[in-house]
Amino acid sequence: MAPVSVVSPSHSTCQCDHSHKIKNAPANLKTKASKQEPIEHALEDIFGSKLRLTTFTTDADVDPIPLNWYSSDPKVRGPVTPSRYKSGLAKHNTIGAHGGPYSVYHALSIGTKQLDAKHTPDYTNAHPPVNFEQQPSWSEPGKIVSIDPFGHLAPWLFKDLAVAENVEVKPTMSITKAILSIPEIKEAVQKGELKPDGEIVLNEEGEMAVSKIAVDPVWYLPGVAERLGVSENELRRALFEDTNGMYPELVTRPDIKTFCPPIGGITVYIFGEVENIPREDKRLSLRVHDECSGSDVFLSDICSCRCYLIFGLIEAAKEAQKGGNGVVAYYRKEGRSLGEVTKYLVYNARKRSGDTADAYFHRTECIAGVKDARFQELMPDILHWMGIKKIDRMLSMSNMKYDAIVNSGIDIVERVEIPDEMMS
Ligand SMILES: [Zn+2]
Repeated sequence: MAPVSVVSPSHSTCQCDHSHKIKNAPANLKTKASKQEPIEHALEDIFGSKLRLTTFTTDADVDPIPLNWYSSDPKVRGPVTPSRYKSGLAKHNTIGAHGGPYSVYHALSIGTKQLDAKHTPDYTNAHPPVNFEQQPSWSEPGKIVSIDPFGHLAPWLFKDLAVAENVEVKPTMSITKAILSIPEIKEAVQKGELKPDGEIVLNEEGEMAVSKIAVDPVWYLPGVAERLGVSENELRRALFEDTNGMYPELVTRPDIKTFCPPIGGITVYIFGEVENIPREDKRLSLRVHDECSGSDVFLSDICSCRCYLIFGLIEAAKEAQKGGNGVVAYYRKEGRSLGEVTKYLVYNARKRSGDTADAYFHRTECIAGVKDARFQELMPDILHWMGIKKIDRMLSMSNMKYDAIVNSGIDIVERVEIPDEMMS
């Protein structure tokens, strides 16, 4: 196995706003304060003074760029283009906006004139450092309906088209490499439970090399509707009404089939060589983990989600050390996709009404009306995107996740329970 090329685990590319000590940085490195240039282009300059609330299929200027969702040829498939900028108002072929929930911060940057509405991204050297081969699943009808299979290559695949059609084409996925440094992993190395090999587990500090994928969702509405067992019209109407009319094109543009929803995405952490993932002669350990920020990050006392996450990471690393792959797919579905505000209310109610699982589910239902809003039916899409056909060790005992994965056509050989000693 070729060693993963390792960049210094410095914070030199961190995007947070506090100053870090930059490891291995030249002594004369100083942070340059960027001078804010005045923004010349206000939205009125681009869209005119009259507001256009929505577009209709029958509008004379409407001429969306073709998007054939299940085509295997990206040139025939076409780009996902929600943007109104440039010629996008007439030519956009997707409802919503790029960036999931961050689309709103983008709007704030434009609205406060910190970002030029005519800014064209420069993607030089931003392409993936590892290659995920195109899989048959990318174009198999019904297989992938909630992410754009070409989303990681969009700026490069559709560069010429974007210029010729004068539209914005942005990526909805990106891929990079990183080093994880986690206290429990260091502890596992010190106890001898995990052995450094210089490739997966890099050293006695327990630092681990991973490839990782960031994914913003892109929904192909007919496919999502079918997956969830409702009609496309029912899905569109529910999304339109329950977001209080935020996306009128859901009802005025039935010809547009794709939607960038304003929800959190997925991060996939991969141990081992990515080209081995689709190979059925290679073993795969996988954990599907739904975000629980309180426990995952802050080790809050109310639940033990971080223990499961650490268990997943350790087992994933071990599988890669044996020549297979380990994958931890992390979904932004805080509090069973009911959100942290709901979650804390349930915690309060749970503490006051008896700390049992029954009470937890009951109280969740009392407050939120449903126990769970994660819609695991959409979860396997990223697994199919990676070309996964079987999972040797599923690092979860969740029936909902198991059913969703198996029903989507991926075999699960063994389900592995977290050892008691890992629970705290
Ligand atoms: Zn939790």
